[in-house]
Amino acid sequence: MSNTEDKTLCALQEEGYIESNMENFKKLIQPAHFFCKNCGRSAVSENNLCNPEKLS
Ligand SMILES: [Zn+2]
Repeated sequence: MSNTEDKTLCALQEEGYIESNMENFKKLIQPAHFFCKNCGRSAVSENNLCNPEKLS
């Protein structure tokens, strides 16, 4: 498996990392409050995301 710490979130999103490693992805993008399960974007407000998932 590739080393996630050397990869951009863009590359991770392209290879489906969010779906396969969602919990790990959440850690990578905190302290954002929400992230998008479709695009891999993170945001303070869920209104800026098309498929928001809350980060704990
Ligand atoms: Zn989205």
